[in-house]
Amino acid sequence: MKMLEITQGQADSVFESLSQKYRIIAPVEKPGEGRFSNTSLLTYDQAKSFKEIDFFKKTYFSPKEVLFPVRESLFEFKKSDIHELQEEIQPSIVFLRACDINAVGITDAHFLNNEKFKDVYYGRRRNLVKLFLIECKESFESCFCVSMGTNKSEDYSGFMRKVDNGYEIKVKDEELIPYFSQGKQKDVEPVFVEKDTSPLIIPKEIDVSLFKDDIWKEYSKRCSACGRCNTSCPTCTCFTIGDVLSEDSSDSGQRRRIWSSCQVKNFGLLAGNHDFRIPKGDRMRYKVLHKIRDFRKRTGFNMCVGCGRCDDVCPDYISMFKCIEKINQITDKKETNE
Ligand code: SF4
Ligand code: SF4
Repeated sequence: MKMLEITQGQADSVFESLSQKYRIIAPVEKPGEGRFSNTSLLTYDQAKSFKEIDFFKKTYFSPKEVLFPVRESLFEFKKSDIHELQEEIQPSIVFLRACDINAVGITDAHFLNNEKFKDVYYGRRRNLVKLFLIECKESFESCFCVSMGTNKSEDYSGFMRKVDNGYEIKVKDEELIPYFSQGKQKDVEPVFVEKDTSPLIIPKEIDVSLFKDDIWKEYSKRCSACGRCNTSCPTCTCFTIGDVLSEDSSDSGQRRRIWSSCQVKNFGLLAGNHDFRIPKGDRMRYKVLHKIRDFRKRTGFNMCVGCGRCDDVCPDYISMFKCIEKINQITDKKETNE
């Protein structure tokens, strides 16, 4: 382990040597790419320097694309022959807040911690990614990570804090320590947010009778089924599979997987034209209960990390936070009546 303070100049040379091997992925400002004209978008992308990284603002979209690309070619086929694709993947260092590091743990559980169905495509990227922690000293407006228990993490290769004249750094990963040879030794520990702007109680037990409750009807009216909540979520991992045929041949092509969303039309469509989640409220119920009930039943921990991104991006002002609050009220009322 190494703890130190480095100047901006020293940081520039660390960045240069790290970039020989790693892509550095972090929150960066992209001018002109915001939702409105002449605005910028703060998003995860490859940084060109540590100076370019925004350590203080929250991104709308999560960094999950590094491990789970929007579109991914799995293999090539020609008649009945299947060929592995030899994609060269560069190792990456990704700068993440504690909730997003916890979200990586959850995607690991999805894709890797199932001995029978280990996802090799996710696994090969995951092996090449190192996580660098960036801290939140205070909760952002829509976050509820403290309530979800994801405000802290020790599962990082390094930690970096921007200070006035440079950076304070803690490096735990032996492979990365040699890159930090310059600077002044200093004790550096990350500070974790300890209080949500609005605390939330996560119901411990959610009875199946909630499936039929009227709360879901409101979402059928309001949700426009755009799927934005899923694409912004660091722990949503649903995908669909399709074959893309070569232009010059109908019996060769690539099998690809593409992000999908449990909120969009036809997600629940089965053979024989059976769709078991047609009302949008049913889809919302599925999403919310998967995040705070069903996944926990299997793994022992919640799937939602309380990053609040789904609330930030929903064009119809549908809120995961408020929905959990409503579930709480129903659960409380039921317990009082019993
Ligand atoms: S707050 Fe929303 S976006 Fe964030 S982890 Fe939970 S469900 Fe996903
Ligand atoms: S972002 Fe909002 S409107 Fe779009 S699918 Fe999700 S809940 Fe529905």
